[in-house]
Amino acid sequence: MKAIVLKPTGNGNAVKFAYEERPKPEIKNEDDVLIKVLGVGICGTDLHILMNPPLHPSNPGIIFGHEFCGQVEAVGSCVKDLNKGDKVIVDPHPPCGYCNNCRSDRPEMCENLFLHGEGIEGQAATRGIFKNGGLTSYAVVPAGSVFKINPDTPFQRMALAEPLACVGYGIEKLKIQVGDTVCILGAGPIGQLFCALAKANGATKVIVSEPHEYRRTKALEIGATRVVNPEKEDLKQVCMEETQGLGVDHCVEAVGQLLMTAIDMVRTGGKVLMFGHDETAAPPIKLGEIVKKEVEIHGCFLGKYYYEKAARIIESNILPLDKIATHVLPLSRYQEGLDLLESGKALKVVIYPEEY
Ligand SMILES: [Zn+2]
Ligand SMILES: [Zn+2]
Repeated sequence: MKAIVLKPTGNGNAVKFAYEERPKPEIKNEDDVLIKVLGVGICGTDLHILMNPPLHPSNPGIIFGHEFCGQVEAVGSCVKDLNKGDKVIVDPHPPCGYCNNCRSDRPEMCENLFLHGEGIEGQAATRGIFKNGGLTSYAVVPAGSVFKINPDTPFQRMALAEPLACVGYGIEKLKIQVGDTVCILGAGPIGQLFCALAKANGATKVIVSEPHEYRRTKALEIGATRVVNPEKEDLKQVCMEETQGLGVDHCVEAVGQLLMTAIDMVRTGGKVLMFGHDETAAPPIKLGEIVKKEVEIHGCFLGKYYYEKAARIIESNILPLDKIATHVLPLSRYQEGLDLLESGKALKVVIYPEEY
């Protein structure tokens, strides 16, 4: 089968991708599931892995691509409730189950995460177990990370499961209620998913700040009540005008560098969610603002117990996810997908294998 594989470039830890012929994987463990890949989203993380120097670690040799979904092809001997032909979404980061975090209800922070098709920072970068991802025709994953979905669901929507699970858990942390006001910094696929879920949870105002016009237009289609170009308009003034001078109830930072901006946008007692992440960012923070305003600051990285819910959301089509999956391309045109994302003319590009 054709696969997109990460290769060292010979320049430090930089990697590039290459097409390679790989054997079809086989069931090895009794709880393995062999998946026929239907679609794979290109993630911002993938672009970071391919940068020189890379902004994200990876393991050369593995098949790339973590946002994959598919159809069950075969199951191991102890897998009872999955059958050949079932359509499924996949959690590409199965936790180990035995580390301290797994045993204290923080599986999304597992210290020995299995990483299908990518790399990861922090402790898990050295302890994570790099596994093949989905940019190919077939993949093997443990049954515990496979979630059944209605078979009529289009694959380009299913491919949004991983980012949706991460964002959904972030929304649960904020506890957005009907009538709340929200500001979202950054309108890439993650910012757009936050916009869609905030609206679905009943937020009356969703103000999205984004410098690219294409993304601002998309945010309006997805449900933003106001979009702001932060290079031309005063975001704080807009947030104040829209909230009778109070500030928003919640601010989601989906950029990775703008914590102080987020703190500035929220009302007294408001909540900030740091989701975007840039390991190099060390912005100056006015600590007094956090204290005086009693700001609650949350971090969020991967989804926690959210894939089952993500499957129900995706199959019900309750969110405008089809507006977020803007492009579908075959595996042989992967580079075009990367170029589209670099140019800012796409939100989520979904790749599909051409042969099985
Ligand atoms: Zn991703
Ligand atoms: Zn663990």
